Amino acid sequence: AIMREERINKTKTVCTYCGVGCSFDVWTKGRQILKVEPQPEAPANGISTCVKGKFGWDFVNSEERLTKPLIREGDGFRETNWEEALDVIARKFKEAIDQNGPDSLAFISSSKCTNEESYLMQKLARAVVGTNNIDNCSRYCQSPATKGLWRTVGYGGDSGGIEDIAKAGLVISIGSNTTESHPVLATRVKRAQKLHGQKVIVADIRKHELAERADVFIKPAPGSDLVWLSAVTKYIIDQGWHDEAFLRKHVNNVQTFIDSLAVYTLDYAEKATNLSKDEMIAVATAIHEADTSCILWAMGVTQHGGGSDTSTAISNLLLVTGNYMKPGAGAYPLRGHNNVQGASDFGSMPDRFPGYQFVSDDEVRQRYEQKWGVKIPAEPGLNNHEMVDAIHEGKLNILYLKGEDMGIVDSNANYVQAAFEKLDFFVVQDVFFSKTAQFADVVLPASPSLEKEGTFTNTERRVQRLYQVLEPLGDSRPDWMIIRDIANRLGAAWSYKHPSEIMDEAASLAPLFAGVRYDRLEGYNSLQWPVAEDGTDTPLLFKDKFPLPEGKAHLYPVTWTKPLEFGDEYDIHVNNGRLLEHFHEGNLTYRSKAISGKTPEVFLEVSKELAKDRGITDGTKVRLISPYGSVKVRCVVTERVAGKEVYLPMNTSGEGAINYLTSSHSDKDTDTPAYKEVAAKLEVLEPQ
Ligand code: SF4
Repeated sequence: AIMREERINKTKTVCTYCGVGCSFDVWTKGRQILKVEPQPEAPANGISTCVKGKFGWDFVNSEERLTKPLIREGDGFRETNWEEALDVIARKFKEAIDQNGPDSLAFISSSKCTNEESYLMQKLARAVVGTNNIDNCSRYCQSPATKGLWRTVGYGGDSGGIEDIAKAGLVISIGSNTTESHPVLATRVKRAQKLHGQKVIVADIRKHELAERADVFIKPAPGSDLVWLSAVTKYIIDQGWHDEAFLRKHVNNVQTFIDSLAVYTLDYAEKATNLSKDEMIAVATAIHEADTSCILWAMGVTQHGGGSDTSTAISNLLLVTGNYMKPGAGAYPLRGHNNVQGASDFGSMPDRFPGYQFVSDDEVRQRYEQKWGVKIPAEPGLNNHEMVDAIHEGKLNILYLKGEDMGIVDSNANYVQAAFEKLDFFVVQDVFFSKTAQFADVVLPASPSLEKEGTFTNTERRVQRLYQVLEPLGDSRPDWMIIRDIANRLGAAWSYKHPSEIMDEAASLAPLFAGVRYDRLEGYNSLQWPVAEDGTDTPLLFKDKFPLPEGKAHLYPVTWTKPLEFGDEYDIHVNNGRLLEHFHEGNLTYRSKAISGKTPEVFLEVSKELAKDRGITDGTKVRLISPYGSVKVRCVVTERVAGKEVYLPMNTSGEGAINYLTSSHSDKDTDTPAYKEVAAKLEVLEPQ
C-alpha cells in the first residue's frame, strides 16, 4: 500500500534470521528502511520481534554488498557482467559432465533462500546436470532431529504450532539456548509460565537465561542426554505411568522397545550422566503429573555422534507417555535458519525429492522423470560431509554453493578450506564476499530476502509469503533467476517468470504441498503442511494416525554413543552456540549498526573457578588449541558456565571462529558434524 505523499511504502516480509518465522511490515522510503512494524495477524509472532528482526537490516544497503559478478584472475578477482559469468559457468559444467560424468559436480542449497529456490537448485542438479549430489545446510544442524522423527512418527516436523507450545502443561527444553536462539518463541513459553502456570524443565550443560527461569534445571554430563531420557522412560514404564491405551491403539514394537530399556536403570544413568536419581525421578514425575508435555530441542542434542539416536529417544519418551495427537503435546525440534525446514522440504537432499519422497522409489522417480522429461539416477547422491571428503579424494571437481559461508560454518574449517583449494571450479553465490568466496572461481551477487518474492517455511511447518520490499541492489539478482539462467545455458528451457510458477510445479509433484498456492498465502495468510489439494492445512500434525505402516508410530530402540574423548592434554570442553544479537558467522548482523554497536565481537565465557586457576579476568585474551586448529578470543568471566566448561559463540568468521577447533567427527546416522564434541587446551595470551 502506498501511504502519505506516495513516498512511504509498507511491505510484508518474513524475517531472514531464525526459524521462528516472524512476519512484519517493513516501512521504506526509496532504499531507506524506516522501520519494522509487526502486525497482530502475524501467525508466528503477533506484535513481537527480537532485536535481529527489528534492527538487523542495515546489511541490505551496505557498501560491501556484492553488486557485480566476479571472475578469478590470478590471485584476485575482476568484475564482469552476467553474460560472461554465466557463460563461463555453463562451459565449465558442460566440460566436466562430458569428461568426468554428472557425479563430478555437486550442489549445495541454502536455508536462507526460499522454498522455490531450493526446489530449483535440486531440479538443476537432478534434471539438468543428472546427479543427486545436492544437499543443504540443515545437514549442519537438524538432520538428526528429522531422522529421529521419521523413525518413530513418520514426519520430520514440529507436532504443532508455536501456539500449541504455549498450551502445554509442561515444556521440556533440551540442549536449546531458546531465549537467544529462538527469542520470540521463548517469550511465549515465559508468558505461559507466568500466566497459566506452565511448568518448564531445562536440561543443558550451561545455565542460560531460560535455565535461570526454569522450575527444574538439570545439568547432565555433555553428550549424555540419551541416557537420562531412556532412564526416565524406563522409570515411567516401571511405575505404570505409561499410556497403555495410546500404545495399544497407535504404536508398534512396544515390547521390543521396553526390553531394550533394561540397561537404563537409574543406577546406570546416575553414573553416566552425573545427574542424581532424584533429578531424573523429578522429571518423570513432572511428565506424569502434566496434562500435556512437549519437548523442544536443538543443537545441544543433535550435534553429537549420536544425535539422531538422542532425538529418537525424545520421541520414544513422548510416545510412551501418549504425548502426541493433542495440542500442547509433541516434538518440537527448533529449526535454526529462517528456512532450514523448507530447504529440505523442497528436495535439496541427496536421497529425497520435494516432500520427502525417495529418489530410489521407482514410482516416484518416474513421476518426476515424466514431468521433467529426463532420466534421473536412482542412487542417492553425496551429502555435504561426503562432498568434502570426495573433493579431497579427487572424486568431486566442481561445487556450486549458494547462500552459505561453508568454509567457516562447516566443522573442521581448515580441512574444508583445504578441500576448496583442490576444486577444479567453484561457484559461490552470496550477498557478501564471504570467507568462502575467497576460494571461488566465480562469485555471483545474490539478492537478500527483502529484494525478492517467494516463500519460507518456519519451524512449525508454516509456509509464508514474502513480498519484494526493495529492488535488487546493483546487478544482484534473486537466486531463483540465477539458477534458472544457468539451467537454460545448459540446455534447459525453463520459462519461470515468477516464483509462484515454481511453487505450482512443486505442488503438482509433491503430495505434501498439493494445495500450496500463492493466492492462499496472500498477505499474512499461511499454510502448515501437509496441505491437501483443496487447501486444508494441518496445524496439528498427527490427529488419529501416523504416516507409517498400519497408521501406527514405531518405538525405536537406541543405544548410547559416548562422546569423543580427547585425553588429559585437551582439558577444556568447548561448548558453543548463539548470541541473541548475532546470527551464525555474522555476515549480516555485523553490518547492522544497532546490533554491532551493542555486541561488536564474540567472547569466551569462562567460569569463576577456571578464571581463578588461570589468572583470567574480563577482557583477558586467550588462545584455545584443539587437535584441528586454534582460535584467539577475549574472555568474560560468568556463572553461566562451571569448572572447565567454556562457551564460545559461533558468531564470527574471524580469529575466534569456533570451527577452527571442531573435528570431522559426525552423527553416525546423518553425518551432521559433532560440533558440540570439542576439547582444547587454553593459553593466556594477554593478561589484563
Ligand atoms: Fe523472530 Fe527469529 Fe527473526 Fe527474531 S530472529 S525476529 S525471533 S524470526
